[in-house]
Amino acid sequence: MGYPNGLVSVSPGKQPLFSFGVITDVQYADIPDGRSFLGVPRYYRNSLLVLQKAIQNWNNRQSISFSLNLGDIVDGYCPKEQSLEAVKKVVKEFDNFNGRVYHMIGNHCLYNLPRSKLLPLLNLPSADCAYYDFSPIPEYRFVVLDAYDISAIGWPDDHPHTVEAVNLLNEKNPNLEKNSPDGLVGLERRFLKFNGGVGKDQLKWLDKTLQDATKSNQKVVVCCHIPLDPGATSKESLLWNYDEVMDVIHRYDCVKVCLGGHDHKGGHSVDTCGVHHRVLEAALECPPGTNAFGYIDVYEDRLSLIGTDRMASTEMDVYVPDFQLAMSGCNLKLYPFDLIYLLVLVMMIRR
Ligand SMILES: [Zn+2]
Repeated sequence: MGYPNGLVSVSPGKQPLFSFGVITDVQYADIPDGRSFLGVPRYYRNSLLVLQKAIQNWNNRQSISFSLNLGDIVDGYCPKEQSLEAVKKVVKEFDNFNGRVYHMIGNHCLYNLPRSKLLPLLNLPSADCAYYDFSPIPEYRFVVLDAYDISAIGWPDDHPHTVEAVNLLNEKNPNLEKNSPDGLVGLERRFLKFNGGVGKDQLKWLDKTLQDATKSNQKVVVCCHIPLDPGATSKESLLWNYDEVMDVIHRYDCVKVCLGGHDHKGGHSVDTCGVHHRVLEAALECPPGTNAFGYIDVYEDRLSLIGTDRMASTEMDVYVPDFQLAMSGCNLKLYPFDLIYLLVLVMMIRR
């Protein structure tokens, strides 16, 4: 069956177009188990076993063409003298996967190593830039954002991006301890030092990339360590300028799914323009014997996340009726089918 926007519905038994693996927040450290600030147990050594299990699982499937690491591979509590070796150790584990691994940077990676030392270890398409895009098949594009582009962590102290981040934190967060949300109200609670923002150049690049994807009739998956939608995460784990990033994303209708990490409990929402936001559950919080990783089967009309243990499975449709998008203010054209539906809707309301 065809949809008005040209998408084709796929029966559940049909083969996916391609599949890819997902894991986030491994936060490995060779230290005893501990707890988060909120008292949630953290299993620093076991997380490496979770990663090994993930890679074994992806390799056994053979159909997994690449994998995404959503960031935070080594924990901030890792002793500093071990940071370099710990990062190398986790990257080496990822290298056991029989396909390409696309890495993202997270705050914990940057507690351990400055960007100049971290980025060259992550096999990024460009060793000095943490945002990039790639197309596994011509119909799909993945856009990887650098959530710590504007950040008080990772850049040299006198770097303009550090200065911009420090100024923003001073303006938005009156606490002496900038990781404390005390007194901050509602969405303002995101202005914490362990979060970050997407800079102006990166925003321009995102706009150009989505414009290009639209011209090429590609569907897009946006990946970012820090979540982009308040509905999918706690207010304390949101990108500083999530609204600016989403404004760019909503200018186009090519982005279907945004994937994130950072908020360890995970989450899922569908925003007003029909974009799915799936924040993935952390590997770090898996008690020994449990796991949190998965793979995503991509079909014409949906992305199907098949999670293991603590990672919840999620169906994400990539078809949203255009009348719904138009009514929610998204910048989309209406199709005749939608106009008829709208007309019927209006007539029913008037009765
Ligand atoms: Zn993080």
